[in-house]
Amino acid sequence: MTHHCSTGIIFLGPPGSGKGTQAQLLAESYELSHISTGDILRRSIVEKTPLGLQAQNYVERGELVPDQLLLDLINEALQNNNSPSGWILDGFPRTVVQASFLDELLKKFSQTSVYVVNLEVPEDVLLERLLLRGRQDDTAEIIRRRLEVYHNQTAPVLDYYQSKGELHRVNGDRQLEEITSSLKELIAA
Ligand code: ADP
Repeated sequence: MTHHCSTGIIFLGPPGSGKGTQAQLLAESYELSHISTGDILRRSIVEKTPLGLQAQNYVERGELVPDQLLLDLINEALQNNNSPSGWILDGFPRTVVQASFLDELLKKFSQTSVYVVNLEVPEDVLLERLLLRGRQDDTAEIIRRRLEVYHNQTAPVLDYYQSKGELHRVNGDRQLEEITSSLKELIAA
């Protein structure tokens, strides 16, 4: 049996950090499948699938969707990944429970080099960007709630990877192209 080493990127960063945009660019450059849990959830909500119906209320309030739904979703997404080059996770994990579940799942991916990257952006810049973006869940009140949820539930995920010595930090408060270059340098290294 021949094994190719493929790439897995776990993309962390607060709402508005630009990880969706960068993930899309990296996915195109390296032919990775871009697995965005936010996009999958929004699509499921529009299509009124069982997942969408269960998730809708949480997404609309800026709350996290319950872990169990996300665990099933990510399990399926990684199983169905058909890009031999690898994948990029955008929006997962967002809780420590999700992170440790992912660790277990990744044991099956021994031929994949996994990078954990956090895109860092100051809070005032995040607020400004999110207010400009104007997605349906981007009203001032819901944005505030999403940032609060990020600090309470997702920031511990950074500590989780930091303490394993796996966290790469990239400054996301720069020109889009500069950020892309830094990310590519990291992955090429
Ligand atoms: P943003 O671009 O603001 O980071 P996303 O598109 O990644 O937002 O996610 C939008 C919403 O989808 C979140 O506010 C949350 O309700 C839900 N969601 C996405 N990923 C997860 C996850 N891993 N765990 C729980 N909820 C999630």
